Amino acid sequence: MQLRDPSLFRQQAYIGGEWCDANTGATLAVTNPADGSVLGSVPDMGQAETREAIAAAERALPAWRARTGKERGTILRRWQDLIEENLEDLALLMTLEQGKPLAEARGEIRYALSFVEWFSEEAKRVYGDVLPATRGDQRLLAFRQPIGVCAAITAWNFPSALVTRKVSPALAAGCTVVLKPAELTPYSALALIELAERAGVPKGVFNIVTGNPVAIGGELTANPTVRKLTFTGSTATGRLLMQQSAANIKKLSLELGGNAPFIVFDDADLEQAIEGLMASKFRNAGQTCVCANRIYVHEAVFDDFAGRLARRVAAFKVGNGLEAEVEQGPLIDGRALQKVQRLVDDAVAKGAQVHVGGKPHALGGTFFEPTLLSGITADMEIAHEEIFGPVLGLVKFSSESEVIAMANDSETGLAAYFYSENLARVWRVMEALEYGMVGVNTGMISNEVGPFGGIKESGLGREGSKYGIEEFMELKYACLAGN
Ligand code: ADP
Repeated sequence: MQLRDPSLFRQQAYIGGEWCDANTGATLAVTNPADGSVLGSVPDMGQAETREAIAAAERALPAWRARTGKERGTILRRWQDLIEENLEDLALLMTLEQGKPLAEARGEIRYALSFVEWFSEEAKRVYGDVLPATRGDQRLLAFRQPIGVCAAITAWNFPSALVTRKVSPALAAGCTVVLKPAELTPYSALALIELAERAGVPKGVFNIVTGNPVAIGGELTANPTVRKLTFTGSTATGRLLMQQSAANIKKLSLELGGNAPFIVFDDADLEQAIEGLMASKFRNAGQTCVCANRIYVHEAVFDDFAGRLARRVAAFKVGNGLEAEVEQGPLIDGRALQKVQRLVDDAVAKGAQVHVGGKPHALGGTFFEPTLLSGITADMEIAHEEIFGPVLGLVKFSSESEVIAMANDSETGLAAYFYSENLARVWRVMEALEYGMVGVNTGMISNEVGPFGGIKESGLGREGSKYGIEEFMELKYACLAGN
């Protein structure tokens, strides 16, 4: 591994400001999904180490909370600068453990540091109110205080951005954190905490435990010192963590699965719609929760659209993310490959047509061909499940009301997209889609300024934006009498 700064490659957990191993000495291997090679290992920790990390976060809380927002923001700002200075190393580490093309990994690091920048600024903008009193001898105040010790659990598809999107607002608010990164991609998180230490984040304020998700997640939810859990991952795991958190009524932010509809109306600019669809669908080989998942195309433009799209998909370059010009890397693991193949096989067996791809890529491993299917019908699994792979399935529609009904017929509600040049339709459809986020004439909606999050089974709470810091604060009301 050719890092400019080899000390960013950390193979230990970080608790109370110390790098440490599992109490048992056990480790978990971390592999490169592009070739299956072992990159290294991390401690295989469980309940006991998680309890230690929570205790360290609790000890660090009073001093951190007592600092001014400006002081915390200054430290975050230094963290941001260090992430920027080490962008190349962080991107390389990410491509090695996650597989996404290097250009995308660089983009994710820039996205990750945008949250650190944003919340370094928001740290000093936490306001309260003086409320009009109902009696002359009283004064009423409402103000915000940090929730306390927070737990964060992140997924493998955005190994850096999910970390900063959770940790920066928590630290800005005055909370302390215990993070469990995904076991498939721990090195990005460990490099980030190394940089946080260099930036001056005090011991115990930000801790990372690696290892057994069930044991670590069990302690993070059962331990009453943890007042808040912020999670990104599958709906199934989110549901489980919510159940476990019910015992002590923890506050929750859950960013769960999506099943994004992408609608192309007959009044759309088709070239732009294809660009937006390619960007939305193939980012991270289709492994994002906001990827276009169900593609509805109006019958009047269907054949034209499908033909142009097929040429784009067929030209898409697959390979090891370290190679120049590669646009799609491997899937994260064999399980992911099997799932994508199962969904394609089921669709084809039920009558879908394959225009491009449809099978594992000749490169072997977990590479899958960029795939375009049409004739998707409601009885196919692909019409309901989040694909999490490089597969486009087209559905023909004939009216606006029909397509809105189909788009909303989902238990998830994260992101939706549509293309139309008709202003009246833009307003109507934007308001009618039952989703937390809507992209209108764009396939890329994520940035640090917009509130990211879903409705229905896609989760609770919002990340980033001016609303994001509130997820880590409690609103306190005080009634001052006797004036
Ligand atoms: P995926 O299937 O996409 O990997 P998961 O929800 O399983 O999504 O994983 C997201 C994160 O949740 C990862 O960090 C993973 O280790 C963690 N995780 C999985 N199962 C549990 C669990 N039972 N308790 C706590 N965390 C878990």
